Amino acid sequence: MRRKLAAGNWKMNGTTAALEELDALQEVAEGAAEVLICPPSTLIAQAAVRSGKVAIGGQDCHSAASGAHTGDISALMLRDAGATHVILGHSERRADHGESDALVAYKALAAWDAGLTAIVCVGETLEQRESGKTLDVIGKQLAGSLPDDVTASNTVIAYEPVWAIGTGKVPTTDQIAEVHTFMRATLVQRFGNETATGIRLLYGGSVKATNATEIFAVVDVDGALVGGASLKASDFAPIVTALN
Ligand code: PEP
Repeated sequence: MRRKLAAGNWKMNGTTAALEELDALQEVAEGAAEVLICPPSTLIAQAAVRSGKVAIGGQDCHSAASGAHTGDISALMLRDAGATHVILGHSERRADHGESDALVAYKALAAWDAGLTAIVCVGETLEQRESGKTLDVIGKQLAGSLPDDVTASNTVIAYEPVWAIGTGKVPTTDQIAEVHTFMRATLVQRFGNETATGIRLLYGGSVKATNATEIFAVVDVDGALVGGASLKASDFAPIVTALN
């Protein structure tokens, strides 16, 4: 039985005052679904201290454990600061920092070495969808971004169509179902039935309280990765409730 996961990605938003949102999530985090907030790195240590029932994650890590990488942060540092998860291969990292599938896979290995669960993001651009390449793109990203030692506890996969992130545009439930069913089948083929059926598959892209229930009813959707609507507890809590 896969535990549902509501993951919030604060991106480059939030200073100390934003940590109040964690207090406001405590009640809803008592429910069946796991609740995770990924604040900016500067807030992780403080967030972990007052996170209560909410898990804390990073938004990226370097593929090396330490070294001469000015401005970067390692998986071990995230773990040391109190994080339990890390988002990897978000489309904004892939676009802004040129991250390849291979680099994402190395980062996943680093995350696992540090004891973190990797939330590996995949998703097609609008151009790729409109030219009928969605499943090819997702298949290639899964093949390249996931190392061989994936388990149901060390990895979560987030399907995030690039064109749906921060745009208010959401795929139809049929489109989400098509990709999630494809991802599950792809994972079964590579990792075997037992591992693959335990891996949680999140949908991400303009999830809000108003569309969450419909999205969560889609086959093989085990939760959401939420950007904008995770910044305020008053927006995020109803999304968690829809999963509970
Ligand atoms: C995201 O960036 O992972 C995301 C899903 O953003 P939003 O919910 O704002 O579309």
